[in-house]
Amino acid sequence: MPRWQNPSPKGSQAREGVVSYKLARRRTITAYEKGSKTAQEVCDAQPELRRVAHHHAVDLVEDCPICEGEGLVLVTFAFGPGLPKMGRCVADKGELEALRLRGRSTTCYRVEVCRQCWWNHLRESFALSPADVASTAP
Ligand SMILES: [Zn+2]
Repeated sequence: MPRWQNPSPKGSQAREGVVSYKLARRRTITAYEKGSKTAQEVCDAQPELRRVAHHHAVDLVEDCPICEGEGLVLVTFAFGPGLPKMGRCVADKGELEALRLRGRSTTCYRVEVCRQCWWNHLRESFALSPADVASTAP
């Protein structure tokens, strides 16, 4: 199962309501740099994630930590009651707002993906609530 479909609960709380997965990301990159993980292991974006990365992503200004290319993007998935089991891709602020207005428990996960080497890693997660959508919108 890809990492983005089964997020680890071991993130750290940086901003209020936002769980950062920076440390896990750093560990994965270090493992790759030391040779204990291969490029095939860390650049394993699944077909659906690749599709979303091409069509519903936000470009990041930083370079890919694996191939050092400029293809790094951020994609957002929402999980919760009434949403697809594999999550729903959130394309823009309007969709995020619509999810918030459902009034149902919704958790969003942001995944960085490289469109050149298919590196992917969970970056952060946050619960949607009526008060915080303005500060967490893509
Ligand atoms: Zn890359």
